[in-house]
Amino acid sequence: MPSDRARSLDATDPLRAYRGRFVPSEGVVAYLDGNSLGRPLTASVERLDRFAREEWGGRLIRGWDEGWLDLPLILGDALGEHVLGAAPGQVAVADSTSVLIYKLARAALDARPGRDEVIVDRGNFPSDRYLLEGIAAERGLTLRWLDPDPAGGVTPEAVADAVSERTALGLFSSVAYRSGHLADMRGITTVLHDAGALAMWDLCHSAGVVPTPLDAWGVDLAVGCGYKYLNGGPGAPAFLYVRRELQGELRQPVQGWMGSHAPFEMGQGYRPADGIRGFLTGTPPILAMQPLVDMVALIAEAGLDVIRAKSIALTEYAIELVDAELPDARLASPSDPAQRGGHVTIDHPRFAELLPRLWAAGVIPDFRRPDGLRLGCSPLSTSFAEVEAGVHAIREALAA
Ligand SMILES: *Cc1c(COP(=O)(O)O)cnc(C)c1O
Repeated sequence: MPSDRARSLDATDPLRAYRGRFVPSEGVVAYLDGNSLGRPLTASVERLDRFAREEWGGRLIRGWDEGWLDLPLILGDALGEHVLGAAPGQVAVADSTSVLIYKLARAALDARPGRDEVIVDRGNFPSDRYLLEGIAAERGLTLRWLDPDPAGGVTPEAVADAVSERTALGLFSSVAYRSGHLADMRGITTVLHDAGALAMWDLCHSAGVVPTPLDAWGVDLAVGCGYKYLNGGPGAPAFLYVRRELQGELRQPVQGWMGSHAPFEMGQGYRPADGIRGFLTGTPPILAMQPLVDMVALIAEAGLDVIRAKSIALTEYAIELVDAELPDARLASPSDPAQRGGHVTIDHPRFAELLPRLWAAGVIPDFRRPDGLRLGCSPLSTSFAEVEAGVHAIREALAA
């Protein structure tokens, strides 16, 4: 049974009604991993069914001319408006985050000839680091590694110490996937710009839960994933943002027909399409974009600022419970909510061993090496009672 406190937090939650819009998950007591895989919306189940019957089955190949070809940009504009703070024509849905990092980082480096360094941090997600290692080898570049506090993240000061007239690009995550640290995106972007470098952000752990007004903050490039707080489903396509003023200057290297100026002329010699379409490569994953349509609409309806306020309340509550009930666990996330994204990480040497037992009991956080449990709170689907049930279950598993 939830405590009075959890019950009253849920009763006064302005977003409480949205929980009923998600597909029920039988046997799940506390889903604390919406930052890895968001839950499906009932509307998306219906949309997928309708799409398969009416559009795919009904319209067949004609569907491409009846809206599918434009969906990557239409959905991109909706993401720009409701999630990313980007004016139309700068966002597209495509590929995976990993592939988009390659496309945009390569394009950015080619646009800064004569500069041979890229700044990246050891706390960044593996793909980000691995892709830059590959590009550095391909282009003879040097990676300048930052080593942030594992319970924190990259700061403008650390970037300022590493940046120079040799820096072409800095690539960082808005919210660190392990610690949940929310970077000062605007401050770091300014430090990079002052040195003549480009700023690229990986928004996987912020998109849909933390506002990141990309246009207002002068961000050059961004990528992010569709299956975390955007609830697109396993392997949902990712999104990319390229600041309008850079679109003519940047040329991405994975040149496929869908990014060309006239795909259906099937002509000789690649010439990129104008604008954000030139950053596409192959046939867009229309089927896999369907759930994103619903989630972006839901975020627009609820309002990203209200979502962020509940996200802070959920993580504050999680930390309060951890402090009270798990005295041996160590908070491995920033304690200041202004420096924290939508999840909280706690470390304990026994968490690896406890995880299977928690999952079997329907309590689903995730584990990150070496000994961290991430408690992900997805404001539209997570209740305060769920957070409480999760922390109680962890306490009991530790006591057993
Ligand atoms: C989840 C995540 C990714 C995932 O990339 P994929 O190509 O979708 O596998 C990349 N970067 C960060 C920071 C992430 O959290």
